[in-house]
Amino acid sequence: MGRARRCRFCHRPAEVVVRQANLPLCREHFISWFERRVERTIRRYRMLGPGERVLVAVSGGKDSLALLHALKSLSGPMGFEVSAVTLDLGIEGNSYSKLSVETASRAAKALGVEHIVVSIGDRYGFTLDEAVRVVRRPPCSLCGLIKRYALTDVARELGFDALATGHTLDDVARFLLSSYIFTSIRELVRQTPVVPPKLPGLPRLIKPFYESLEEHIRAYADFLGLNYMQDGCPYARTAPTDYFRAFLDEVEARSPGAKHTMVRGYIKHIRPALLASLGNKIEPIRPCSKCGLPSSGEVCAFCRLRERVLRALGKA
Ligand SMILES: [Zn+2]
Ligand SMILES: [Zn+2]
Repeated sequence: MGRARRCRFCHRPAEVVVRQANLPLCREHFISWFERRVERTIRRYRMLGPGERVLVAVSGGKDSLALLHALKSLSGPMGFEVSAVTLDLGIEGNSYSKLSVETASRAAKALGVEHIVVSIGDRYGFTLDEAVRVVRRPPCSLCGLIKRYALTDVARELGFDALATGHTLDDVARFLLSSYIFTSIRELVRQTPVVPPKLPGLPRLIKPFYESLEEHIRAYADFLGLNYMQDGCPYARTAPTDYFRAFLDEVEARSPGAKHTMVRGYIKHIRPALLASLGNKIEPIRPCSKCGLPSSGEVCAFCRLRERVLRALGKA
């Protein structure tokens, strides 16, 4: 940084410089700057209103603990209620699921937030480890399907208005880039900060970190002393798109704010144009005949997976 810079607001030594705004901040002012930014994202995309209840998906990692903390801080002034949910996916490697539940419980307790733990094995009859063993599909794709389904299912059962996940600006930028490169138009159109319920009685899905950079989320978590899980998921090494991360980080380093510009531009200009050109070619959604959750076919992808896994395990 060269010469020590001082916080724009209080003139104490700065600990972070928000590069896209050339804004030096001390810890305390960074924390409030970060939370104001999340608040602005929530208002801009109408994610939550007064009197509503939001369920936060907490894995115990940095992003989800930071999200729980930020939403809890904003819940008073903005007038919504926060609960946390952690899925015990039954991942034995690195004691991942066990640590995930413990870390999330500790954080929720410290914040005085209700914490719901849902065991996938108890609820659906099989764990992620078992699914990985019997289905030839990348673990991250199976895990994504199971998590999306179970979180929606639980939020619906408990009557929450919204389900919040810790997807970051970096995640969204990476997803957009990879969708452009591989021309995944349908996936691209689905990428929005708020996904309205596809059927009545379901929660809307919201991403309050849609405009928050991972480096800022990390600084927020570290400044608050959040005790997040360091060890990642044992299956994560099989994740395919890490070179997109390196590429986008380099773009951001050369042009601070580029990730945000890309994501905002997509939402404001590119997505509306895509939607207009797709017209009514977007697949209609109906209730799954087995579970009632949204499906593009007769039986939803989760129920098909579940049946296959239970059969292979001799449980069905
Ligand atoms: Zn300051
Ligand atoms: Zn189903």
